[in-house]
Amino acid sequence: MAKRQFKAESKRLLEMMINSIYTQKEIFLRELISNASDAMDKIYYKALTDDELVFNKGEYFVKVAADKEKRLLTITDTGIGMTKEDLEKNLGVIAKSGSLAFKTENESKDGHDIIGQFGVGFYSAFMVSDEVTVISKALGSEEAFKWKSKGADGYTIVAAEKDTVGTVITLKIKENTEDEQYDEYLEEHRLKAIIKKYSDFIRYPIKMDIKEQ
Ligand code: ADP
Ligand code: MG
Repeated sequence: MAKRQFKAESKRLLEMMINSIYTQKEIFLRELISNASDAMDKIYYKALTDDELVFNKGEYFVKVAADKEKRLLTITDTGIGMTKEDLEKNLGVIAKSGSLAFKTENESKDGHDIIGQFGVGFYSAFMVSDEVTVISKALGSEEAFKWKSKGADGYTIVAAEKDTVGTVITLKIKENTEDEQYDEYLEEHRLKAIIKKYSDFIRYPIKMDIKEQ
């Protein structure tokens, strides 16, 4: 199938992130967990006004799982999910929240400050990943879809299999280089520390499942 292209400004921000001017790579996990939490909040708020929908608190959680051998880090949520159109609209455009504009205006500031203060969102996953896959099934939908991207060169969306409503995001963690370490993002103690640092306030349980090789 044809590969779709990111919007121009999205491309620019993505390249900046991939080129790693930012030192605080660890914040990708905060961004993905906060998106998971937002997606579960959306079901919660919908249930307040929708008599057909019951919010059973025990069904909502985030799971962070790592497979060291395959270098895969997976973030699963039982949130509202995304339709094909949502995947296209929400993950096809970067920096709607204005972080690109901010960055342009403050070019002289170092990336560390900017990324620390502003949610850069989903695309921060590419700071630590060669490839990101999102499989999602939206509330009220019978179909699931898979969004996949290696970064700046675009993304694909195809039909997928998923039984339950929600989203599974899989990051193929980069190999270590001489200058940069990525192995740590597959280590239980490191992941726990990042979650404690940034996601302590999240109102849903964050489960963990680490597969050693
Ligand atoms: P923001 O969270 O500031 O809107 P992001 O880049 O983090 O920006 O995410 C973009 C959008 O993608 C979100 O607004 C949401 O609509 C959608 N999204 C991202 N992750 C998820 C998820 N786990 N479940 C449902 N929707 C998601
Ligand atoms: Mg977000």
